[in-house]
Amino acid sequence: MRVLVVEDDADLNRQLVAALKEAGYTVDTAADGEEGHFLGDTEPYDAVVLDIGLPHMDGISVLEKWRRDGRKMPVLILTARDRWSDKVQGIDAGADDYVAKPFHIEEVLARVRALVRRAAGHASNEIEIGPVRLDSRSGRVTVNGNPVKLTSHEYKVLEYLMHHRERVVSRTELIEHLYDQDFDRDSNTIEVFVGRLRKKVSPDLIETVRGLGYRIVAPQNAA
Ligand code: CA
Repeated sequence: MRVLVVEDDADLNRQLVAALKEAGYTVDTAADGEEGHFLGDTEPYDAVVLDIGLPHMDGISVLEKWRRDGRKMPVLILTARDRWSDKVQGIDAGADDYVAKPFHIEEVLARVRALVRRAAGHASNEIEIGPVRLDSRSGRVTVNGNPVKLTSHEYKVLEYLMHHRERVVSRTELIEHLYDQDFDRDSNTIEVFVGRLRKKVSPDLIETVRGLGYRIVAPQNAA
């Protein structure tokens, strides 16, 4: 899952990025509204953390512009404390949720988690497909109750496919949602990760749809 953080306070930006990375997200970052708007306009994000008070273009304008242009990614806004008008304006502009400053980083993480999973149509942090269970809160994967040890890249691929189960996910989509801007997009690493997931988790969980990508089908829906 790939998240964009738009925050001009350098310390806060660093803290958010560190916490989100630690939680397993791929994170891009911007320190002003214009750059943030550009990234959200051109890159696919699974969630955005957007400060309201930003140089060059304020967060509300950034959000309004995205929504006007049909960008639907979930957006969590960061508002100043006691500025109820920020919250109202932000939600009217298309924010999905807000956190008031100062906040505990855990609250931001919990809200981002909820936004990502709701955007994928899930009410719970735990996704279960056949014997495989993935808990996006703890980052744990089990098969028939037995924990499976995955690298962070393997986990990201599995998490994305499980969130978007029943749908064919292309290699390009995986790369775009799992890596930041600087990643070499021509590499074959996705195939390598899928191969390892088949070995570690289950040989038939991830289906290859020739020429299109990968798909996870829940057993009751399998042909
Ligand atoms: Ca600010």
